[in-house]
Parts: sequence; structure tokens; C-alpha cells
Amino acid sequence: MTNPFNDSMERLRSVVVEAKKMKGITIKNETLKILQEAKRSLHVNFPVKTKKGTEIINGYRVQYNDALGPTKGGLRFHPEVDHDEVKALAFWMTLKNTLVNIPYGGGKGGITINPKEYSQDELEAISREFIRQIHTFIGPRKDIPAPDVYTNPQVMGWMMDEFNKIKGEHLPGVITGKPLSIGGSEGRSFSTAMGGYYVLQEAADQYDINPNKATVAIQGFGNAGMHLAHIAVKDGYKIVAVSDSQGAVYDENGLDVEKVIAQKKKTKTVKDFPGAKNITNEALLELDVDILVPAALANVITEKNAKKIKAKIILELANGPVTFEADKILHKNDVVVLPDILANAGGVTVSYYEWMQNLQGDYWDEKTILNKLNKKMKETFYTLHEDYVKRFDVDFRTAAYVHAILNIQQAMIDKGWI
Ligand code: GLU
Repeated sequence: MTNPFNDSMERLRSVVVEAKKMKGITIKNETLKILQEAKRSLHVNFPVKTKKGTEIINGYRVQYNDALGPTKGGLRFHPEVDHDEVKALAFWMTLKNTLVNIPYGGGKGGITINPKEYSQDELEAISREFIRQIHTFIGPRKDIPAPDVYTNPQVMGWMMDEFNKIKGEHLPGVITGKPLSIGGSEGRSFSTAMGGYYVLQEAADQYDINPNKATVAIQGFGNAGMHLAHIAVKDGYKIVAVSDSQGAVYDENGLDVEKVIAQKKKTKTVKDFPGAKNITNEALLELDVDILVPAALANVITEKNAKKIKAKIILELANGPVTFEADKILHKNDVVVLPDILANAGGVTVSYYEWMQNLQGDYWDEKTILNKLNKKMKETFYTLHEDYVKRFDVDFRTAAYVHAILNIQQAMIDKGWI
């Protein structure tokens, strides 16, 4: 199994080597040294009473780098969460936040559980206990969690409530992705997909993809994947395949997305969708489509299957779906990879808007939020496309990494760290 942190550090080092060839760009040795390890990590190990008896639960929160502001990033519930995975995710958040020019450092957290095995009451107890364990580590001006894999607005609501009870104050800005009734933002629930779609629109334009003819396969049908299907189909894209952890479905004539969503909500899976063919998740990735959207977990496109990818564009809504080795193969084969730190930055961008609204106590409508998001995603896409991809003939990931690292480096110089 690929270790996500080692993989991400290997990629970082290779980007720094690549940057040496770019005229006018200097990444200092100190910058690389600092970015090769997390600034602060907290590992907690705590008992919670569940129907199985007393269970010992592990949780993590990593503040990777805070040169640019309070650390920010999601919190996931997954059986495979460990310190290295959370560190890799926190490193990516550090790059992502500054790439879209929001004033945050990067952080991430996780609890090592399979949420499907617990009742709502048990998940609430675990969420609240986790906050009791980490409350000194987080805060609206310190470190701000948000939803990630298998966490949602309800979990954020419990966590905010627990934090506020401990502090004896109303501090909605401690966490984002909350329900609307308690300080959530319009647009946040679908902002990851929306931001990705804004990037895709520009990429389609640049790489001659016609939305009315283009085919799309989406691996993962959670919040991001489902919303992307819903948004893209309205503009004419043909969604030919979608998948979840139980399997994938394929219809070359295009799936009826709204019906697939209705089935997923009812039966908890897209499998056996009437009129479509059941295929495997692996087969979905290798379909002959224009756009492939990995929207689930890390490391699904590796050196083993990268050669077989036929898509022209990969839109990474998940974090870390393409490994370092796979990247090289895809670049050689002219597959345009729109990297996670660009493609899924819409989520944290609207989290930032939520946090601003919480601090000001003034709330904006959906149109205002989406206009701001659209502008930001487009600006970021063109900064990378014009200033790096075209100028230095590099892929979007290299472009995004170099641009983000330079921002962090500048902040560290200005703060006198290096
Ligand atoms: N978990 C999301 C991400 O990976 C959102 C983070 C946030 O909103 O802080 O970008």
C-alpha cells in the first residue's frame, strides 16, 4: 500500500527539483525543510461507551503549517485514518488554501472509525468526546475543522455545540460546513463540486471539450461526486458511469442522474440501477470517456492502471486520487490532470466565506457566494495555465505546487522564519 505521506513528500521534492529549471523561480532549502514535516500534531485515544461496550477510539488533528494564518481543513471518519494519512491531507490543505488565496494555513483531522457501524447517538457521543479531547488545540483564530469523508453538517453542529459549551461562548467560526440554521453558509453543501465544475468549464474551453458531446465517469457518489453529476448533466455533459464503495454502473447512452441520486438515497448504493450495466470500480476508471472524476478516496490511479486511463481530463474532486508515479505516466500520455488542490478547493473556499460571515455576524445570499467562488476558481485556473503550464510546459499539479509553495515561502520570509 502506498503510504500517502511518503508519496506526498516524494512529490514535493520532485516539484522542487522541477522548479530549479524554471527561470526566475527560487525555492529555498529552508522552505523545503519546513514543508517536509508537520508543525504540530495531536493524537488522542479516548473511551466511548457504545452498544458493543467501552470502545477505545483514536483521533488525530494535524496543523501542518500556519505561516499564512490559522490552520484549516476537514475532519474525516474512516477506518483507515492514521497519523500519516492525516499529515498528507494536512500538507495538501496547506497548499490548497494559499493556492486559492485564502488567508489560512493547512490542517486536517480524522477519527479512526467506520461510521456505518454506529447509530446517530453513538456518532454524536464520539464527536462530542473528540472535541472535549482536542478543544485546546482548535479555535476560530487557531485551527478550524470542517466536513470531509463521511462527516457532514450534523457532525459539525454537534462539534460546534460541544466547543461552545466548554468555552461558555458562541463561537460559530470554530468549525465550518455547519447546518444553515446555526451559522452555515449558503452554497457550502455543494461547493466542492461547484468549484470543480467552474474549473472544468475553463479546462473544457482550453482543451476543446464540447460539453454537449462530452462523456463523464464519476468514481465515488458521495457529496462531491453526486453534486458534480447533478450540475454537469444540466449543462449537457453525458454522465455514463458512476460508482460507490459497493460497485459501479455504466450506460453508454448516459445515466438519468436524478434517478440514480434518488436510488442512492433510498438503497444506499448506485449498484443495480435499472437499465445500466454493473461494472467494477476499476473498470470505471479505465472507460473511454472525455472526463474522469475521481471523487472518493486516495491512491485509486497508480502506476498499475495509469497506462490504461483513456480520459482526456481528470478532475480530482477527491484528495490524492493519483499517485506520484501515476502522475508521470499520465503527463507522458497527455492526460490533463486538474489536481485536487485546485479542483476541490471550492469546499474550503466557501468554508472561508462561512467563517467570514460568522465573524461578522452578517450573512450573504447564494448568488453572492457562487459569484465569488466562480471568480476565484477561474482566476486560479488561469494563473496556473498562463504563468506556469504554458510558460514552463509543466503539468497543472507542478504549477499549483510551485505557486502555492512560493506564497508560503514569502510569508515565512516576511515573518522572519527563514
Ligand atoms: N475537507 C475539505 C477539503 O479537503 C474542506 C475543508 C474545509 O472546508 O476546511 O478541502
